[in-house]
Amino acid sequence: MAESRQASKPVPAPAAPRPHPSAIASFRRELLYVTLTVAAGALVGWLLGGWLYGAAAALAAQLGRYLAYMRALRVWVDSPKRFELPEPEGIWGDVFESLLALQRSNRRRKKKLAGILSEFQASTAALPDGAVVLGEQGEIVWFNKAAQALLGLHVAQDLGIRVANLIRHPAFAEYLADVRYEGEVEVPSPVNLKTTLALRIIPYGNNQRLLIVRDVSELRQLEVTRRDFVANASHELRTPLTVMRGYLDMIEPETRKSGEFAIWQMPITEMRNQAVRMESVVNDMLKLARLESTVYDATLDMVDVPRLAQRALDEAASMSRGEHHFEAHIDPDLRLFGRETEAQSIFSNLTTNAVRYTPAGGRIVISWREDSEGAHFEVTDSGIGIAEEDIPRLTERFYRVDVGRSRASGGTGLGLSIVKHALERHEGRLEIRSQIGIGSQFLCHFPLHRICRIDSADAYRALAG
Ligand code: ADP
Repeated sequence: MAESRQASKPVPAPAAPRPHPSAIASFRRELLYVTLTVAAGALVGWLLGGWLYGAAAALAAQLGRYLAYMRALRVWVDSPKRFELPEPEGIWGDVFESLLALQRSNRRRKKKLAGILSEFQASTAALPDGAVVLGEQGEIVWFNKAAQALLGLHVAQDLGIRVANLIRHPAFAEYLADVRYEGEVEVPSPVNLKTTLALRIIPYGNNQRLLIVRDVSELRQLEVTRRDFVANASHELRTPLTVMRGYLDMIEPETRKSGEFAIWQMPITEMRNQAVRMESVVNDMLKLARLESTVYDATLDMVDVPRLAQRALDEAASMSRGEHHFEAHIDPDLRLFGRETEAQSIFSNLTTNAVRYTPAGGRIVISWREDSEGAHFEVTDSGIGIAEEDIPRLTERFYRVDVGRSRASGGTGLGLSIVKHALERHEGRLEIRSQIGIGSQFLCHFPLHRICRIDSADAYRALAG
């Protein structure tokens, strides 16, 4: 900051420079001066009896003068602050004057740059986020105060060391190695494991990178609190709902008989339907909370997808009550490494959605196949379709294109959120293609390392072991 204040002080106006003759004019003037001096020397020599001696003496005097200026220049170049350049007339004076002007303008530029640099440093030091400049080899070149606190950096010992040696988390190593630097990566702080840091690298200039460090612990804590609240609230609602539904299930058949309870038939049936709906919502909320909060453990099952797909198909067929045509293309030997319950959620949500959003007489095709990129579970229907602008929002919680239709068909608005989360836990990806009035296709893509054929059971044993 001190330097920036200096930089903003008014700079004293430099002494008015001599009018600068052009290089040619200056050289001509010097040539004339030398000629006149030699001529004067020759004249004096002639008067004294030897013009040649006179001319030679004048030339020698000139040479001596030039050598003295050369020496002064040499000494000044070495330490311009300690020595001053003479200010002779003639070509040497012009050269010295130009050199001094160049030096003055360089000093001014340097001062200005130092001011800008110190202002930049002061502003980045005031940032709440950490900023670390990385060199070509990933070494730490500069960092601000916040980075010092968040990463525990010390000027004396950490400048020059590679950032990968400081943040040793595997997720960061992977992020650093992938030169695209997409998004950000979250790792525990090397100073305090309870602090979560979001790291982001921004490449710039000549192989330089800026590492931005943000403390996201509070945000993550808030998310955990929200998740826990939803899970607890859903859990608490479950028991009273089960009791209410149990009684309504008991009473409802009574209202259908003629007698004193008959007038209650409509409200009781409606109450029972709403209790069933609430139960589905609470169950889906619990499922989602579980998917979000439980850590995925490394031991995996070999999921029998063909069996689960058949189960999902049967469920859809019973829901359809013979109103749709079903078709299945299932690779019987293809298996998935993952969690059976979660895989079942994915398949059954997609197939029941296909039935619910396809009018009677429509066609529903399920396929499970493998190609060079991985395995794909696909559900295609000839249903109502989805508008292009709605597709990116379908996996949001409680997002429905048509709320009435979703509710009427028993939807909770959480099915596709569950599918998305369950897929992410299997390193899978959901793709949705749809056209209004033509139909929709929901594709679940699983990576190659998540699948195997039952004849290659060795791969399974290797993974399970
Ligand atoms: P819901 O319980 O409402 O079906 P989902 O999360 O499963 O909730 O789906 C979200 C929304 O996506 C649905 O409300 C519906 O508008 C749309 N949708 C899902 N599947 C289909 C499909 N196969 N065809 C048309 N629209 C669909």
